[in-house]
Amino acid sequence: MTPAPPRRTAAFVAAALVALGTAGCSAPAGTSAPSPSLTSWSYSGADGPAHWSGVAPACADWAGARQSPVDIVTGELKRDDSAAPVRVDYGSTPFAVEDNGHAIEAVPQDAEAGSIELGGRIYRLQQFHFHAASEHTVDGVQADAELHLVHRAAGGEVAVLGVLLTEGEGNPALGALVDSSDAAHTAPAVIDPAALLPASGASARYTGSLTTPPCTEGVSWNVFLTPTTLSRAQLDALTGAHPANHRPVQPLHGRTVTAVRAG
Ligand SMILES: [Zn+2]
Repeated sequence: MTPAPPRRTAAFVAAALVALGTAGCSAPAGTSAPSPSLTSWSYSGADGPAHWSGVAPACADWAGARQSPVDIVTGELKRDDSAAPVRVDYGSTPFAVEDNGHAIEAVPQDAEAGSIELGGRIYRLQQFHFHAASEHTVDGVQADAELHLVHRAAGGEVAVLGVLLTEGEGNPALGALVDSSDAAHTAPAVIDPAALLPASGASARYTGSLTTPPCTEGVSWNVFLTPTTLSRAQLDALTGAHPANHRPVQPLHGRTVTAVRAG
């Protein structure tokens, strides 16, 4: 006789519908529904980039999305000569090199290992890792690989330096890093990440996201437009375990990409 159980059921169903509606808000209208909750992600197939919103809603594309990577169209860059080039303060320091399941990643063993100053804010180096081919493209062209140096400020803000890597002359400063990317080699690699940066050249700067789930936005990107060259053997050592770990370029949706002069 008591109506309580039916009411609870109805309330539960209503709550579930509200929850579904909320989750659906991050998906763009008119596109396929988000994948059912995924527990893992990869770079192809049923848990590939088109389905990452099933792992992390922020990965979905919609009119207000500010995702990365993007295509850098050099003819459309907004030149800003008043913007200060990124100031890099790195040095030789030990890194633990590991395969994180999606990329070769190097984590500094000293929390004070290095920092950058970007847009008047100091960010500390958290890790760097490699994608193949490059994630950012320049005028639609992919480079052989891309290095991401990931930094965090005291307030939690994230800044990433992107370095395009192309096959060419080898980089002698990378011997320890290349050796350590071998699974059989477990000693820390003592390297100076500055050796991975191009000697000069302008940068493209914009606000985007992490390029892997959770695709968190609000990331300050500084992508050097001049590539660094590595030998084929070095590229293979750093990207051979994950030869196709790049997210496709994402729409700008009206964002400005600024050209910042060389330092
Ligand atoms: Zn990355």
